[in-house]
Amino acid sequence: MIFPLPDLDEPLTGGFWHAAARDLLAFPQCASCERFCWYPEPRCPACGGPDLPWTEVRPAGTLYSWSVVHHAFLPAFAAQVPFVAAVAAIDSAPGVRLVSRLLGGDPAMDAPVRVEFGWLRLGEDRVRAPFLRRVP
Ligand SMILES: [Zn+2]
Repeated sequence: MIFPLPDLDEPLTGGFWHAAARDLLAFPQCASCERFCWYPEPRCPACGGPDLPWTEVRPAGTLYSWSVVHHAFLPAFAAQVPFVAAVAAIDSAPGVRLVSRLLGGDPAMDAPVRVEFGWLRLGEDRVRAPFLRRVP
């Protein structure tokens, strides 16, 4: 099985990947009630507002949860184990949890992390993506 790269043209999530291509972290934020809406939905789940522009946020957060992956279920990841799949709360986007890989350092509850950008690769194709790194 091949792990697919994200679809940059998918209407709900494309803005996330287009921001990442510029090393920016952005999430949909309701123009009516200012609530962040992540994972994206066509309308704001709080007020029903249809206008959810992509809003750049500070690329910093707090480690919320994680799992150390020792067995790669997909062959594409076999050479990368062990790695840490992590969830971080994004400090400047209340309610947003970003799932990504933790690079370097051991995970610890409530540890500060920063978002840094790198490449997801599949053969010759690649997509810029946010990763998490502990702040020393
Ligand atoms: Zn709203």
